[in-house]
This record gives sequence, C-alpha cells and structure tokens, in this order.
Amino acid sequence: MKVLVIGSGGREHTLVWKISQSPKVSHIYCAPGNAGIASLAECIDIAADNINELLDFAVQNSVDLTVVGPELPLSLGLVNRLEKEGLRVFGPGKMAAQIEASKSFSRYIMEKYNIPIARGASFDDVDKANRYIHSQETPIVVKADGLAAGKGVIICKTHDEAIDAVQKIMVDRLFGNAGKKVVIEECLVGEEASFLAFTDGKTVLPLPSSQDHKAIYDNDQGPNTGGMGAYSPAPIVDRIMHDKVMETIMIPVINGLKAEGINYCGVLYAGLMIVRDKVFVLEFNVRFGDPECQPLLMRLNSDLVDIMEACIDGQLDRFKLDIDPRPSVCVVMASEGYPESYQRGMTINGLDSNFDKEKVNVFHAGTAYKANDIVTCGGRVLGVTALGDDIQAAIKDAYDAVSRISWDGCYFRKDIGKKAVDKLTQSPQVGIVMGSDSDLEVMKSAAMVFKQFGILYEMTVASAHRTPERVTKFANAAEEKGIKVIIAGAGMAAHLAGFLAAHTCIPIIGVPINASSLQGLDSLLSTVQMPPGVPVATMGIGKPGAKNAALFSIQMLALNNPELQKQLLDYKADMAKHVAAKAKAIC
Ligand code: AMP
Repeated sequence: MKVLVIGSGGREHTLVWKISQSPKVSHIYCAPGNAGIASLAECIDIAADNINELLDFAVQNSVDLTVVGPELPLSLGLVNRLEKEGLRVFGPGKMAAQIEASKSFSRYIMEKYNIPIARGASFDDVDKANRYIHSQETPIVVKADGLAAGKGVIICKTHDEAIDAVQKIMVDRLFGNAGKKVVIEECLVGEEASFLAFTDGKTVLPLPSSQDHKAIYDNDQGPNTGGMGAYSPAPIVDRIMHDKVMETIMIPVINGLKAEGINYCGVLYAGLMIVRDKVFVLEFNVRFGDPECQPLLMRLNSDLVDIMEACIDGQLDRFKLDIDPRPSVCVVMASEGYPESYQRGMTINGLDSNFDKEKVNVFHAGTAYKANDIVTCGGRVLGVTALGDDIQAAIKDAYDAVSRISWDGCYFRKDIGKKAVDKLTQSPQVGIVMGSDSDLEVMKSAAMVFKQFGILYEMTVASAHRTPERVTKFANAAEEKGIKVIIAGAGMAAHLAGFLAAHTCIPIIGVPINASSLQGLDSLLSTVQMPPGVPVATMGIGKPGAKNAALFSIQMLALNNPELQKQLLDYKADMAKHVAAKAKAIC
C-alpha cells in the first residue's frame, strides 16, 4: 500500500511512525513532512493547505490511503475532493469538519443534541455581543468562531476586557475571517482533559484519555501555546467519567451529525472541562491533537492502518483497540521565545543518542535539514515521548531523553505529567468494593456523589467467595491509605460487607444489589442480618442504596469537617428546591 500523510508537525511524525509499522504499507509519502519524517517517508514539497496540488499528487501516484493530519485541509474539503476521485482517505469531510472550523456550528449541534456545554451564545453583530456580555457575570470567555491556530480564545476577567476582546476579534480582525462571528461563554473552572475516538460515523471506538499542557510555563503560567506536553491516561477520566463522556458526548455527537445528514469518518477529539461530577465540551477537534497524538499512538498496539481502513469501510464495529497499559508522557522541546517570535536554524545536538527504542521516541515537529545537520525551524521542535511502567517512570524516561538533546535557546516545561502524579498519590477517603464488575452500573451512583462532593475514592472489584484473599488485602491496607469508610456492593448471597467488617474496624456500608431472580432480597438479607459484634450498615437495594451509602459516608466524614457539612446543607437545600419546583408544576 502507498500511504500519503498530510502535515509537518509532531503529530504527523507520530502518524508516519505508526503507519510505517503496518505490514500492509510499502511506501509512505508525507507532504510536506519534516527532518524526522524524512527518515521514514518520502517528503513531498507541497503545503498541507494546497488542496489542488495534493489532489494531483495523490491521483498521479495512485495513493492507496491518504491520512490528513491538520484541521485546515479538512475544513477546506480535501477529503471530499480526494473521495470524488475515487481515492481512500482517513478524515472527515468539509461539513463534518465544521464542528471544529466553526464554534457557532459546534454550539448549534451541541445545543440541538443536548450535549453539555458552557452556557453561552454566538453573535455576528458587535452591539448584540456587547449587550450580552453586560447581561452575564464575569469572568467570561470570548472566542473567535473560526480556526485561529489555538489562539482564538480570550478569557476575560471583566466586562471591559470582554468588550475589548469582541472589538479585537470582530472589528480589528485579529484572527482574520475567523472573527466574523464570536462565541461568548461562561467561564468554567475545573480540570481539562482530552478525549479522542476513532469513528466510522456509526461506531465510536475510544482511545485512552490524555491531557495536554497548553500554557508555556510550569504550573500552567503564561500564554497558551499549541501544547507543551501531554500524557496518557489522564487520571481525572476514570472509568466512570469515561463512560459518562461516551454516553453524553461522543455517541450523541456522532449520532447528531448523522441526523443532520453528516457522516463523520476519522478521529474526533473532544476537549473537555471536568467540574467535579460534571463534564462539558470546550471544543471539538476533527483530528488527532498535537501533542496528545504522541503518547496515544505510543500506547496503541493495534495496526493503525487497519483501524483507518475499518473507519473508511464503515466496519469499525468489528474492531477492538489493543492498548498498552503502560502510561506515556510527551515533553515538547521548543524554541526560546515561542509562542512569540523565536530564532530558527539552530543545530540540534544529541538526536543520535542511544535512546531505548522500546520505550522512547523523539518525534520531530519544527525541524529541517541544513546540509547534514538537523536544525530547528519552528516554535515546537521535538516531542520526546516515553512509555513507563507507571507515570513516574514515564516522566523520568522522557526527561532523561530530553536531557541528552540540546540546541542554543532550547526551552521545555519541567512539570509535564505532574498533575497526574499529584492525583495518583492523593489518599482516598473512601473505598468502594464490589463483588463483580457487573455491579459497576449500580456502584457508579455512589462514585458520582463522591465526585460531586470532591471526595477521593478508591474503587475495586473483590469477591468474598471467589477472591477472599483480595478482599482481606483491601481491608487490611485501607486504614494505612487513610480510608475512613468502605462501601461494599454485592448481589445474591452477599457476604462482601460482612467479610470486610470481619477484617477491619473501618465502618462498612453494605449495598445489596439485584443480581438474581430474588431481585436483591437475597443480598439485602445477607447484608443486613449480621451476627452481633460485626456491624454493617445496610442501605436499600440498588442505585438508591448506592447513592445513600455515599451520602451516609459523607455525613460521617462531615462530622469534623465544617466545609463538608456546608456542602451537605447545600445539597439538601437543592433537593428541597427541586421538590418545590415539582410541586409548583402540578398545582
Ligand atoms: P478551545 O479552543 O475552545 O478549546 O479553547 C482553548 C482553551 O481555552 C481551552 O483549552 C480552555 O483552557 C479555555 N476555554 C475555552 N472555553 C472555556 C470556557 N468556557 N471556560 C473556561 N475556559 C475555557
């Protein structure tokens, strides 16, 4: 197979690297490529947005598969043009690409299909935009509607700043025609994560979660860049959040587009803001993120060409991704001065170091050949990416590799992956144990309440009958971890709660689960009817019980935590408000 990859960044080097591993592939072209890509592909001097020349090249060279890296050629309709010539191409068509290329279109789709977004509105009139700003609270976010190379979002602390942002975008046209319209949104405060999936327009096959580092300086300080590093997985997107993102965002948006007559084939990227138990879409991108692509494809064991072909053929339902369980970290090495002005042409030293190929890859972004030297020719120059047995090991290996590379005026952040480490090393306050993974649907209700209250929990599967030693181990270790209460969910002859209570003095709350023809009465009796001396608090059967178990745990934790007590009071007040609203509705 002859494959053509469009683009010249770290994302495209990673794509070329991964595609080159496919036994199906005999030759790779890359337009325009970079110095790193040149070692794996034949670089063709055609710009990524030169649609006519790209089309001619693909036709003349009978390219079997074209893979489009960046958003611009997608939004210009390269995919439609190639398809019209009967060529196979991985990436969404022009209409589907509008979900990235127009933030107002993206909002329209999300509002229509009930996908969670920040409160806001789109405007093509400056006066209306300004009036809207004055009707809203600050801080507030003003976004250019169109593509602005990641720079079109302005977070404004005051109304005046927001009015000024509208002026810059719509009147001064700071981002050119991207500023014909603006989107104005409430400013969400939470933790960001990236969620990418392959799709053929019917099936959505998620990649592991990842997290980008947009700001130029450590601790997320300074202006935004294209991305200074990334890691995967992002601990904030645990199994429960993952399911929520799939159910409330990824599947509905693909189905929504389909309902609009738009078939989406390619990678869909949702930029998320996670606010406790809630998740909002900040933006959709219609391609791999850069630098998220680097750690994600390092973790992908499956043949990327097979997946892309399955997307094109509408047969993704037959596919399962094989993912390396090891975390991966990418540290971007940039030119000093980026994202403002910087020098080019600096000779890069250390690229020939003896890196452990099994674990480390140095993906090129802004690099070029000058005689026999590889020199810098962009803001982001390299994406040094490593796999590790845990996130700490991946960070260490990535930075070890970074330390072997240098050039005059090289800059990189020193804290890539730190957020993940911080999150993973925090102590949980609550343990949630379930007898089987089939109990997860019920126990999610407990986990969601903990997320809502910002309480860390550890969740696991351990069976009193099938893995009693695992239950014992969990109970014995819980105290040391700082766990103050354990919730045990089990069905049938539910001995899990009692078994845990026999092994620890930490209070245990049992949640009986409906898992047999006795509809949970069996597990209710097994949980509640404990011998004297082995107390277990027992909740109602199923989801209401799981939710109450979480609230009951929080009440215990709140006994000496005034902040938590206040949250509980607010929670009760909120519930009362809902009941009052319902009462009003039927009167
Ligand atoms: P976008 O291109 O829409 O993803 O925006 C770029 C960055 O701006 C995001 O990664 C966020 O850091 C920030 N941002 C965008 N929208 C919002 C919002 N509604 N609230 C807070 N931050 C936002």
